[in-house]
Amino acid sequence: MLERTHFLGAQRVPLMDCAGRVLAEDIVASAALPALPSSAVDGYALRAADARKALRVAGESAAGRPFDSPLEPGTALRILTGGVLPEGADCVVMMEDVELSGDVVTIPGGLQPGQNFHAPGADLRAGEKVLPAGVQLGAAEIGLAAALGLAELPVGRRPRVALMSTGDELVEVGKTPARGQIPDSNRWALLAALREAGAEIRLLGIGPDEPDALRRLVVDALVGADVLVTSGGVSVGTHDLIKPLLESLGDVHIGRVKLKPGKPFTFATLPEEKLAFGLPGFPVSSLVTFEVFVRPALRKMQGFTQLQRPTLPVRLGYDARATADRTEYQRVNLRRDGPDLVAVSTGSQSSSRLMSLAGAHALVRIPPGDQGIKAGAMVDAMILSLP
Ligand code: AMP
Ligand code: MG
Repeated sequence: MLERTHFLGAQRVPLMDCAGRVLAEDIVASAALPALPSSAVDGYALRAADARKALRVAGESAAGRPFDSPLEPGTALRILTGGVLPEGADCVVMMEDVELSGDVVTIPGGLQPGQNFHAPGADLRAGEKVLPAGVQLGAAEIGLAAALGLAELPVGRRPRVALMSTGDELVEVGKTPARGQIPDSNRWALLAALREAGAEIRLLGIGPDEPDALRRLVVDALVGADVLVTSGGVSVGTHDLIKPLLESLGDVHIGRVKLKPGKPFTFATLPEEKLAFGLPGFPVSSLVTFEVFVRPALRKMQGFTQLQRPTLPVRLGYDARATADRTEYQRVNLRRDGPDLVAVSTGSQSSSRLMSLAGAHALVRIPPGDQGIKAGAMVDAMILSLP
């Protein structure tokens, strides 16, 4: 499925809008940082060889206001944090370590060349790779780019996702459901998941369980979308219309998966390299299949290097029963026990029970079979958040 998913291309974006975006090209330092020797403290710039001497204060170098001549023998320069060291100085003595009398400073002993200033290139050498393509831009990364004078960065385009819930039982959240109706909770859960995954979302609302109306809605929505995400309507009941619709619009590559929760997950490719994900209707199934299939695909489209959630080895704190023919993603909380993280079940793993996923720290993958995994065994957990 990921092999049918492609990078959407790069765009240049001002730093203002770069947070959370994915860098599309390596960034290499065009110049050293700092460019000039820069004082780390308030004090006096001088030659280390002038330790224990009384020196005339020749002037001042403050941040943004350098002293423009070289340091003459027998002199020191008052320097403030961020001030440029004058040519000839090889160290800075802190203000509190000297004695000042008029315009003469008496310097203590034990000075080391290089002390109390940042040498050119100490933070970054010219030509050094600063950030690799594929990283997500956070505060430090954006700060680095800004320090190098880059006002815009090349980032991966965000996938445009059209999101639709299906089912005649659904009502808008906030309206009172009539008998047999339920609020359309998947729309909001999936909207949040899509945002976290970096998508731009267009909400299509609730699609009806009626083939022609559903088709019109989907065909319209696909104009200007890279991806269609639906929930519901993918099981094999007579009202399950998504699979035949996607078959008529493109190629269905996956119509069922050996996964619990989420068996009816459907994946199709549509003309113009568009993708469609038909997620199951049960709330936990839709979010778990989103995690397993949709999120990595959306990240690949943006150029992320890291497509999957991080995993950590954890100790099972319960006997995990397996499902005979399906891999099970069990929702767990993690707690610390000495050096270990211990996974504790979030309770009933029913695919309609969102409480099994709310606040869950991780998903633990239990392979199919009749064995299960006994408490105490180490397993890999897909981390959603750490305790
Ligand atoms: P379906 O795949 O359409 O048969 O739906 C399976 C189950 O998920 C049914 O119990 C639906 O009521 C429920 N469901 C479907 N869509 C949603 C939704 N948008 N929000 C909450 N529950 C849903
Ligand atoms: Mg339905």
